[in-house]
Amino acid sequence: MIDLHTHSFYSDGTFSPQEVVRLAQKEGITTLALTDHDTLSGLNEAELEAQKQGISFIRGIELSVFDEKQASFHILGYKMQNLDALSPILEEIKQSREERMRAMLSKMKDESEISVSYDALAEFCHGTIGSGNLAQYLVFQKFFKNFKEADTFIKNFKGKPYGVFVKQAVEGIHQAGGLAFLAHPYVLKDDSILSRLKEIGFDGLEYAHSNHSAEQTAFYLDLANKAGMLLSAGSDFHGAYKPDVHLGVGKGKNPLSDKNMMNWL
Ligand SMILES: [Zn+2]
Ligand SMILES: [Zn+2]
Repeated sequence: MIDLHTHSFYSDGTFSPQEVVRLAQKEGITTLALTDHDTLSGLNEAELEAQKQGISFIRGIELSVFDEKQASFHILGYKMQNLDALSPILEEIKQSREERMRAMLSKMKDESEISVSYDALAEFCHGTIGSGNLAQYLVFQKFFKNFKEADTFIKNFKGKPYGVFVKQAVEGIHQAGGLAFLAHPYVLKDDSILSRLKEIGFDGLEYAHSNHSAEQTAFYLDLANKAGMLLSAGSDFHGAYKPDVHLGVGKGKNPLSDKNMMNWL
């Protein structure tokens, strides 16, 4: 069993990188990637723990991107060698995230009873600051009973698209010596991205994901194979923040396997 899409508390997961690795080992996962949103902060800790636990570890990241037609989506970077090459992109995304979060908080203050200061939220976060962290903060502050309620509330204040232009992010991953994959394609509103994967520079796509139906999984597998693209599979584990998602498991409790990934893992 493998899992190539997981989050720690350096983005919007609730566990430390070490805890994610230990849990993965317990679940019988043999290859694990940590793919926090827009940060590389957890990779060293996870890599060391994976060595201790005897798990094969892949360095990963999930970057926030947009393009002309698609406001906001995610891409996965794997196997980066030169992490410093990503610094300019990560800095740009950090600034764009901060602008968006400040706008969200000010809208929330104007249109609801709840006021949260950006600095207090930043102090609560271990790394990346996003809407998932805001949901966790609102539950921590007892404004809501659970993350689902907090997430639903926050949707009213969702800010403008953030991140960097998709081509820039794909090139950054390549400059760092890594491979770029389209994450969970089911979220795309603009299907034309699927026909432009090669043109944009993608190496592969995440065909199996905990939110992909059996039909979607089969569709993306076929599409990737026809386009000669690499495949990846991940649960998108976030710990207690998304309690229905389990490490190493796709939709319908199907274990994630590496059977289509021998050409790059
Ligand atoms: Zn994502
Ligand atoms: Zn994710």
